[in-house]
Amino acid sequence: MSNYPKIILKPGKERSLQRFHPWVFSGAIEAVTKELSDGEIVEVYDSSKKYLATGHYQEEGSITVRIFSFTQCEIDEDFWLQKFQRAVNLRKTLGLYENKSINAFRLIHGEGDLMPGLIMDYYDGNVVIQFHSYGMFLLKDTFVNVLKNVLGDKLKSIYNKSETTLSNAIEKEDLKGFLFQANKTEIIVNEYDNQYIVDIEEGQKTGFFIDQRENRKLLEKYCAGKKVLNVFAYTGGFSIAALKGGAELVHSVDSSQKATNLTNKNVMLNFGECDKHQAFAEDAFSFLDKMDNDYDVVVLDPPAFAKHLHLKEKGLKGYRSINNKVIHNIKKGGLLFTFSCSQAISSEDFRTMIFTAAAQAKREVKILHQLSQGADHPINIYHPESEYLKGLVLFVE
Ligand code: SAH
Repeated sequence: MSNYPKIILKPGKERSLQRFHPWVFSGAIEAVTKELSDGEIVEVYDSSKKYLATGHYQEEGSITVRIFSFTQCEIDEDFWLQKFQRAVNLRKTLGLYENKSINAFRLIHGEGDLMPGLIMDYYDGNVVIQFHSYGMFLLKDTFVNVLKNVLGDKLKSIYNKSETTLSNAIEKEDLKGFLFQANKTEIIVNEYDNQYIVDIEEGQKTGFFIDQRENRKLLEKYCAGKKVLNVFAYTGGFSIAALKGGAELVHSVDSSQKATNLTNKNVMLNFGECDKHQAFAEDAFSFLDKMDNDYDVVVLDPPAFAKHLHLKEKGLKGYRSINNKVIHNIKKGGLLFTFSCSQAISSEDFRTMIFTAAAQAKREVKILHQLSQGADHPINIYHPESEYLKGLVLFVE
């Protein structure tokens, strides 16, 4: 028997854990067997003292326990090693592990890999970790050992990039910096043979939006001879794909000057001096207000407008506004690639919002593709919130 502190749930509150949902909310808890410290490993029991699951206790926020095991066992280095091995095996199954034309992928996807609070992205042997829970943060030395073990000589460096995801009392230097083998902070990765510069120190999230890989690939095939507008372009992920697909002209818009500079560098890296591309460091809303009506293809990939459930309505309004503007102005027979990465907005909400935006614009609109995140960001079937990225490709007449 293990010696972890126990959390006892109120009667009836065991149901979501019995259905393998990995979160325990504060309101579900009846009692604890000892005073808990932040990030501690705890076992969760139902009101009749039957074991349900093991996870990390967190003081802050409404999710009090994040579950990483539904089987009672010792949580030692070997436990994590086996979990990481399974995560790597999945990426091997996906053909991402020994792939020369793609060397950036998500290695650990939080709840999707039943490791809530932990994100790891792999950039050509350089692993960038983002800790979203204190419990996972406390395991950072264990994870360095485990990564060395599972990745072997493929591992070049490990970088901790948790400044924006963890706060509290953690020392600043513990939130940012190399945990293994200090290396360059600008890494060039391949994605379907396109090259991208990833700034793991200053970039957003872990440096790159790997989750859009397959959607960028899809865009590529629709761009030959087209005039393309990429809004919320970040470092030009979709813009490079559009140029690769033979676009006649690509405009990239992002409010971040830093991101726009990297977009230009990425274009240079892939195509040299290129008069088919222009980047604008501008606010998307004002750019769309004066948008030309001769774009054939438009990409809208905004940041999460609804970061929490209580912001859902406000977020939907923002999405509706930008989609309405584009549907209104896009060329007849044009294609709109439109996305939401808000966990709080379901695919049904998203589709209803597009329905309204289209009806208001009075255009004939057909859905050609329904998109999500790449398979290296797996969706835990018991945790519908893992399906955070929703996308539609619309044909607008
Ligand atoms: N499509 C990108 C990822 C987009 S992330 C890719 O494939 O890599 C969202 C981007 O929106 C960020 O780069 C952020 O700087 C930008 N952004 C946020 N608010 C904005 C605004 N109001 N106007 C323009 N860009 C904005």
